[in-house]
Amino acid sequence: MITALPLALIFSFIVPQQNQSSNSPLDLIHVQVANEAQFQFLNILLHDVDDHQARHPGGAVVAYATDLEQNLLSREGFRFEVITEDLADWYARRAESDPSARSSSGTMGGFRTLAEIGQELDRLANDYPNLVSVKQSIGSSIQGRDIWMVRVSDNPNTIEPGEPTAWFDALHHAREPMSAESLLLFIDWICQGYGIDEELTRVVDSRNLLFVPCVNPDGYEYNRMTNPNGGGMWRKNRRANSGGSYGVDLNRNYDWAWGSQWGGSSGSGSSEIYRGTAPFSEPETASIRDASAAYPPGVSISTHTYSNLWLFPWSYDTIFAPDDAQLRDYAMEMTANNGYAYGTSWEVLYVANGVADDYAYGQHGA
Ligand SMILES: [Zn+2]
Repeated sequence: MITALPLALIFSFIVPQQNQSSNSPLDLIHVQVANEAQFQFLNILLHDVDDHQARHPGGAVVAYATDLEQNLLSREGFRFEVITEDLADWYARRAESDPSARSSSGTMGGFRTLAEIGQELDRLANDYPNLVSVKQSIGSSIQGRDIWMVRVSDNPNTIEPGEPTAWFDALHHAREPMSAESLLLFIDWICQGYGIDEELTRVVDSRNLLFVPCVNPDGYEYNRMTNPNGGGMWRKNRRANSGGSYGVDLNRNYDWAWGSQWGGSSGSGSSEIYRGTAPFSEPETASIRDASAAYPPGVSISTHTYSNLWLFPWSYDTIFAPDDAQLRDYAMEMTANNGYAYGTSWEVLYVANGVADDYAYGQHGA
């Protein structure tokens, strides 16, 4: 693996040339990767590099890139092709032309808006008052929006400290609406199966299941405002950074291996993986910290889209967790039916530091 120092050097060269805080259209591109150094270069330059095939001979990655970034890749000698021009536009058109998207639950290209997520939580609490709590705010975003949580359990409005807690969250990254939808569908599925499926009923009766379907309401709402028909590509929160850029990557802002000594985050406000000025500098991550301290989880699942991966700690460095064998066993079970690739983040994706799953594991053993 390349070390943190050369990563920092590469970064200092490319930062002035990129402008990820602008609204430049993002294309989906397919890039040939000749070696590990090229792969690391891509990881730093681009966003959400999906690479679990990249480290094989002739490997390639799929990633988002602006025209400016594609120019830079050309200059650096990368071979790539554009799969989809202007993803936001493509998503909006797809939603418009797809009857199943139009008839589905949400009005934002088939996905729920922030308001509609709140309405669905209200509906679930109404329809299943003995299983789903009234939604409660665990804190506010920078722009003052509530971060909602519901508890699913046999006595949902009563804290039962004797029952172990399982934690589920979604939408750290604003452009990943399927992550919230998957949790809402999961809650609905639990409620419909309760009293019918024996194992499911046992779990609900003996556990606190906590759900936070939108960790990043400002970023999510920003995407609705810029792209009301879906396809908004904003990722971070809406922090106004010094220097005029916007947004902290909430999934680099946790107080576990936070900082520049690790190679999986950026100190540049314009970067898509900007870690912020300090651990838990953002009210959104601080809300997660406080809620998870109030209800310490034994299991924690943080959902993203779209790479069909099951990732487990550690993410911040190329090392294995003390419970690696157990985490790997869970991963095998969780991917047995869906065929997802699994591993630590650095094995199947990239090094990422200050992330939610490392914090949940490091702080709570979850
Ligand atoms: Zn994500």
